[in-house]
Amino acid sequence: MQLHCWQVPMRTRFRGITTREGMLVRGAAGWAEWSPFTEYDDAEAANWWAAAREAAETGFPAPVRDRVAVNVTVPAVDFAQAHAIVSASSCRTAKVKVAERGQHLSDDLDRIEAVRDAIGPRGRIRVDANGGWDVETAVDALKQLGRFGLEYAEQPCASVEELAQLRRELARRGIDVPIAADESIRRAADPQRVVELEAADVAVLKVQPLGGVRRCLELAEQLGLPVVVSSALETSVGIRMGVALAAALPELPHACGLNTLALFADDVAAVPLVATDGSLLVRDVLVDGDALARLAAPSDREQWWTQRLARVREVCA
Ligand SMILES: [Mg+2]
Repeated sequence: MQLHCWQVPMRTRFRGITTREGMLVRGAAGWAEWSPFTEYDDAEAANWWAAAREAAETGFPAPVRDRVAVNVTVPAVDFAQAHAIVSASSCRTAKVKVAERGQHLSDDLDRIEAVRDAIGPRGRIRVDANGGWDVETAVDALKQLGRFGLEYAEQPCASVEELAQLRRELARRGIDVPIAADESIRRAADPQRVVELEAADVAVLKVQPLGGVRRCLELAEQLGLPVVVSSALETSVGIRMGVALAAALPELPHACGLNTLALFADDVAAVPLVATDGSLLVRDVLVDGDALARLAAPSDREQWWTQRLARVREVCA
C-alpha cells in the first residue's frame, strides 16, 4: 500500500477548521482516502480505516446509476454571500448551515431568505444545525425558517431522544419540516435507535465514518429510511467513495451532500469531482502527481498521521 499525507486549505472556515488534512492510500483496487478529523480517537478513526481499506483493496459494488444529484453547501455566511454561492451553482438543492455559535436566529432567517430568492420557488432547501438547538429552540426556529419551505432539517438537536421529542412536537403543532439524522447515526453506538424512537424521516450516511460503502448499504437496508449520502469534507478521492455508495443505493430520492470540494482551495485530482448541471458523474478519480507534491503535508504532520495510522491498525488487528 502506498501512503501520501496531504493538507488542503479551506476557502471558508467550516466545522471550525481552516485546513483539512489526511492520507491518500493506493492499493490493488485503486485510490482511497483516510481522513478522520484530528480530534477523533483511534477507535473512531478505525471505522474510517475500514472504509479506506475497502476502497483501496476491494473496490466498490456495481453502480445502478451513472449520475448523482448533489446540493450546494452554504456555510454560516451573511445573506449576500449565501445568495452569491447559490446563484453561482448549478444545483437545485441547497444545504444551509444554521445555529452557528455566536449567531442569532435572525442571521439564519436572513440567510435562508436569500437562498430561497437565489434558488427559486422550485428549488429545495435543507438546513443543518449540527445539534445546535434544544427542542424548544428548534420548534421556534423551524416554525420561522419553515415559512421559506424546507426539504428537511438535519440534526436540529444533539440527542436521538431530543430528535424524537422534536418530531412529535412539530407534528402536534402542524409544522411540516421532516427531520434528518446525521451525527445520531454516524457517531452513535446503536444507529438503529433513530428508527426505534421514530426520531427521523431521513438518514444521512457518510462512508468513511461508517466503515465503508458495503457497511453503509447494509445499514441503509436495516434503517429502512430514505438515505442522503454526504461527504466528510474530503478530497475528490474521498468524495468518490461517497459517490460509490450513492450510485449503488437502490433508491436515491434526495440530492446528496457530495459537492463539498467547493469548500477546498485545492484538490488532489487531475479532474476534481465537482458538480456539473447539479450532479456528479459516477467515475473514477485520477490522482495528480503534481498536486500530491504541492499538497504534501509538512513532515511533523506526516509523522503525526503515520503514528496515528500505526495505532489504528493495532485497533483493527
Ligand atoms: Mg450534518
